[in-house]
Amino acid sequence: MTRRAAFLDRDGVLIEEVHHLHRAEDVRLIPGAAAAVRRLRELGLAVVVVTNQSAVARGLCSEEELAGIHARLRELLRADGADWDDLLYCPHHPTEGVGRYRTACDCRKPSPGMLLEAARRHALDLGRSFLVGDKASDLEAARRVGCAAVLVRTGHGARQPPGTPSDAVVADLPAAAAWIGDRMVAP
Ligand SMILES: [Mg+2]
Ligand SMILES: [Zn+2]
Repeated sequence: MTRRAAFLDRDGVLIEEVHHLHRAEDVRLIPGAAAAVRRLRELGLAVVVVTNQSAVARGLCSEEELAGIHARLRELLRADGADWDDLLYCPHHPTEGVGRYRTACDCRKPSPGMLLEAARRHALDLGRSFLVGDKASDLEAARRVGCAAVLVRTGHGARQPPGTPSDAVVADLPAAAAWIGDRMVAP
């Protein structure tokens, strides 16, 4: 038995884009994001957050600060009846930063390592799953494992050029959840 998933990028999709966010008090949900996450789970999808956090490699945010940010984000979602099934982050960067974080890993999007790891953990059917992102690297990670890719116009999505390859382009996460909902009920 396998589940379908909705993979959600964090910055610019779930929360407002803040360059190298490192303080929990700066976490702001995109309007309607919690209701959208609720809707995705009501559809039976596993909601999995997948986020590149090279701020860790760059020494701008510690893994402890990152844990605080994610605790705050989860608190905001839960206050509105939403939650995620899992969250995976890539703390690496191939050329920037220090120590073990400076590495050409296979988890930094557009590599699909986080999607593959989530699929392994939760027995997900990637070919029938969805990803919502605001950057071409998100959409490319989805493409590499056969997920449908939805580009939102929030965050960096406002600046993605027309013709960026995706299965849909919508305004924001609530619109993405509606698009996914339509696909779930289609024969
Ligand atoms: Mg993003
Ligand atoms: Zn990584």
